[in-house]
Amino acid sequence: MEFERTTGGAILMDGIRLRDEIIVSLRSTIEADGNPDVCLATVLVGDDKPSRLYVKSKHKKAKEAGLASRHIDLPSNIAQSQLETEVRALADDPSVHGILVQLPLPEGLDAEPVLDLLPVTKDVDGLTERSMGRLVRGKPGHVPCTPLGVMRLLDRYGVETSGKRAVVIGRSTLVGLPQVLLLGRKGTDATVTLAHSRTADLAAVCREADIVIAAAGMAGLVTPDFVKPGAAVIDVGVSRSEAGIVGDVQFEAVQEVAGAITPMPGGTGPMTIGCLMQNTYAAFKMQQYEDTGVELGSGLSL
Ligand code: NAP
Repeated sequence: MEFERTTGGAILMDGIRLRDEIIVSLRSTIEADGNPDVCLATVLVGDDKPSRLYVKSKHKKAKEAGLASRHIDLPSNIAQSQLETEVRALADDPSVHGILVQLPLPEGLDAEPVLDLLPVTKDVDGLTERSMGRLVRGKPGHVPCTPLGVMRLLDRYGVETSGKRAVVIGRSTLVGLPQVLLLGRKGTDATVTLAHSRTADLAAVCREADIVIAAAGMAGLVTPDFVKPGAAVIDVGVSRSEAGIVGDVQFEAVQEVAGAITPMPGGTGPMTIGCLMQNTYAAFKMQQYEDTGVELGSGLSL
């Protein structure tokens, strides 16, 4: 397949394009399934502007994919117990298939007991202990959307993982840790290094890698001297600057060296949303299976 390339000749791993392909394909899957009512519920606490924009685009894409969506908007001064009551109601509602609690929560609220309320089949963000446990144990469950989106990008743009060396910068439970598990698991078969803020000589560590995934949230951290010629470089980090959104990767300079690269914006962000839609439909199928014993459709179980 011919891919679009950057001015330096790297393959441009276009997340908007792949997200749109995912949405179109999901829509036809849902239509072929008889247009069942599949519902994603989002919970947003407080007024954080970027969080509000993320949630808005999730609803827009849900609609395009043929999913119903519901939104619960809560004030930042809500009591922990009231927030938990709201989330428990969604957890108990059989017409809601996927629940996404937009993180981070405002100061003073604890996300852990809120996440604990999510049934594993409705945890479409894959963030609960049980979803993480399933990922570690190789059992079917929801995989966190951002690292899953990275895997989809690597696959779509023909980046070989088997036997290759990968470095993941960042060790959060949201991105870095699940990313390491996904890259290293059987069938994907990369040899993975987990780097973080205490990693000595990060540039040298990254230069060893065929795949570099930057999820540090440190604008411009990855410079050309981090990149082995021809390596794939995936930018997950998001920082806001006067010039707009910038990533962890110095795109212009790095694309001269890399073999494949994601833009920022337009790379991993849209893929996170595309994967959330896929997870929501998978959630519906999991719940249908629990209720009826009908097998999960092929390709939905991760
Ligand atoms: P996080 O919880 O703050 O974790 C950041 C990780 O990066 C930590 O493990 C930290 O190391 C490491 N780190 C920070 N500075 C570093 C440095 N200079 N060198 C090496 N490692 C460094 O953040 P997160 O939730 O994983 O998110 C990471 C970034 O991805 C953020 O910018 C976030 O906004 C973005 N994000 C993007 C998407 C998307 O869809 N594109 C989705 C989610 C998050 P220590 O553990 O040693 O502190």
